[in-house]
Order: sequence, then C-alpha cells, then structure tokens
Amino acid sequence: MRIVLASLLAMFLIAGPSVSPSNAGTLEGKKCSKIGQVKNSSGIKYLCRKNKNKLIWSGEKNNSILSQPNRVSNTSGPKPGDLPPRNLENCGEGVYFYRMNSGVLERAFFEKGPYVSKDPRPNSSFDPIRVKAYETIRNRVSKSSSRPTQTFYTSKEFPSNVLTLLKNQLNESINYWSDYIPSNSEVHGTFTTPKNSEILFNDNILSPKDAMWIFDAYTKSDYAKCGGRSGISGSHIMYQGKNAGEIGFWIIFPDAHNVTHWSPTYLSHEFVHGVQGLFWYGRNVEPLNVAYNHIEGGAELFGNALALPNLGWYQDAIKKKMVNQHAFNPKEQPIPTTEADVLRMLTLSEKGEQYKNSDFGSGVLWAYTVGLHLWEWVLANYGFEAYWDILRNFANNMTYDEAVKKSIGISKNELYKEASPYILRQFQAVFRK
Ligand SMILES: [Zn+2]
Repeated sequence: MRIVLASLLAMFLIAGPSVSPSNAGTLEGKKCSKIGQVKNSSGIKYLCRKNKNKLIWSGEKNNSILSQPNRVSNTSGPKPGDLPPRNLENCGEGVYFYRMNSGVLERAFFEKGPYVSKDPRPNSSFDPIRVKAYETIRNRVSKSSSRPTQTFYTSKEFPSNVLTLLKNQLNESINYWSDYIPSNSEVHGTFTTPKNSEILFNDNILSPKDAMWIFDAYTKSDYAKCGGRSGISGSHIMYQGKNAGEIGFWIIFPDAHNVTHWSPTYLSHEFVHGVQGLFWYGRNVEPLNVAYNHIEGGAELFGNALALPNLGWYQDAIKKKMVNQHAFNPKEQPIPTTEADVLRMLTLSEKGEQYKNSDFGSGVLWAYTVGLHLWEWVLANYGFEAYWDILRNFANNMTYDEAVKKSIGISKNELYKEASPYILRQFQAVFRK
C-alpha cells in the first residue's frame, strides 16, 4: 500500500496552482536549448522558457509586479475573462489574488487590489454544458444530518489569517461531502510549515516514511519559492495507525517565502481526493487503475466549482490552467484542432506519468484539464452520482471501461466520443486567436 500512497501523494503535489520552477542572474536572456530545463548559476536558478519564439534563460529580477507594466493596469480590477498578469514573481504563471472580506470572496489581479466580489457575465454567456455541471454541483445538498468531527494539528508558524480561511473551508467541504463520509469518523486537518516537520510524524497524519517523502519533495522542488506560494497540500485516507480509514487533509505552507497568498481551490480540490479514497479504502484495488483523468479531472471539477462562487471565476480558473499548461510545454500540450486530437488526449490522460526532471508528461497535465471537461459533460448529462458510480463500480473490481458502462450505459470509448465535441469547443474558445 505504501507504493500506492507515495504515488498518490506525488499526484497531489501537482495540484498546486502553478508548477514552473524558476529565478535570476548573469544567464538572463541568453539562449537555451530545451524548454523547461533548469540551471543553477552563481547560486541562482534559471528556467529555460519561450519568449517571442526564442528559448531563453530566465531568472529572478525582482519581486515587484510593477516590473511588468504591459500586462494590465493596476488601477482597475480584473475584467471578465482576463487572465492574471503573467510572470508574477517571475514564476511564469499568473495568479489571481483572493481574499475573504466580511465572509465574501473577493478577487484581484494584484495583491493590493482593487478587489471585486461579483462577475457581470450572465449564464447565457457560458456553454450550457458548463452551466448545468456547475449548477448540479453547487445546488447539491448533503443528504446526511450527521457529520464527522474535525481534529486539527497546527504549527505555530502557520500564518494565522490563512489558517482561519482554511479551517472555514475545511468545515464547508466536510458539510458538503458529509453523506459520503462514514458517520462517527473524524477528519484530520494538519496545517504546518516545513519548519515544523515533526507535526507530520503522527499517527493521525500518515506513516512517517510518507510524511518524510512530502518534505523531501517539497525541498527538492522550487514550490516554496514559486508555484507553491499558496502551499502544498494533499488529502488521503490513512492506511495505518489508530485512525486508519479516516480522511487526513494536510497543507504545508512555505516558510521560506514571505508572501502569504491563499488559493481558494486548493483545499476543495484536495478534499475531493480524500472522498475518492473512501471508495477504495480496504479494497484490493489500485487507485491509479481507475484512470488519472478520473482522479484529477474530478478533483478539479468539484474543487473549482465548490471554491468559486460564480461561473465566471470558475471558467477563468479553468482557462488559466489550460493556458499555463500549454505555455509550460507547448510541444507536449498542443492545442487540439479535431475531435480525434481530443480522443488522443483523453486516452493519454488515463495514465498518470509521474513528475520527473521538472517535466510533465502530457497525460499528467491533461488529466486535470481534459478530465475536468469530461466530467462536466458527464454531470450535465448523467447527473451528479454518475461520477461517483463509476468510482463505486471500479472499487467493486470492475475495469474503468466496465465501470463506465455499468454506471451510464455506454462504453468508455462511446463516452469519450460523445464528449469530445464539447471538449474541443472549450479548447478552441480558450486558444482562439
Ligand atoms: Zn489532485
């Protein structure tokens, strides 16, 4: 089971809002040969990235968002559909800034604002499949009146403002999924920084070896400086110890980085993984065999829809991920032009290749984006439970194909075929010139 745990954790790490390593110095602007390549020089890390059709080394300049004046004006809030400014902190990935203001989620392009709480786009401006899927998720209410208790494990260094937000979010996630969680169980939420690694060495989290694995992965990557500014998070079912079978959610906040941003989709995404784990816990099934696009596409869909209060922001979050992934490795993430391309992407996204050498296999990345669109299609046409029926049937020793057939009455290939025009038009809408 340890291998399973480790490989799932590897996937959860990829769940962060952005993943490009990078930073500065004398190599700046010089030619490089392979996109995504990372090089250390004079103690500074450089990332090989594309700039105006040339591959160049790019490192840290300074942390000021004002050094990218051409992106967007910092005197107006995000316009509907705008992507956030890129290269924030020279991490190569745009981010929105979110905050809670008197219980209302607000969004901005810049840390200092201006923040907005509403999106003017009417439902008619979105694809009806997307509207239906989003509303199916948002309108669902848990059928259970009981809910699991929460136990927190918190390090002193964890930023208190972020902690409050996360605890509230965890509470909301538990309420939403409470009818999927066995009664009388606990949800264990751990919030720490790398400084307090000992807090993870606890029966209530996961096995010490796996905890160590998280920290190793954390320090070896550049998440703490760049993409992981919101932290690294995971959720899993504990396989050992006195709380085996219960959900353990954890988030590690970078203490090497002084920016305490918060991403609202983090926790809601990860918590879905905990719920997924309940289905296969104690069964002789290998979670990865259900298909990576089911695991990650589902977490993306439910996580984004539950975290973001309107369709506009939900769509922007999806668009941002698609654009970032394409920009990260355009060769491996070509923009589909035919339904046949989409079918290929769907098939590739079933297999989750592992993170290696700062490079992502296209199947890994597409599991999130293509996967999300696939499950939007399924929820819109077959209802909320169809997604979970597939998991339930899989956990009863069916193949992915058999589970799809039993759950919605058509084969997996027929489903892919049926959903591909929708997926294609979403990709074309995002990458339209
Ligand atoms: Zn995930």
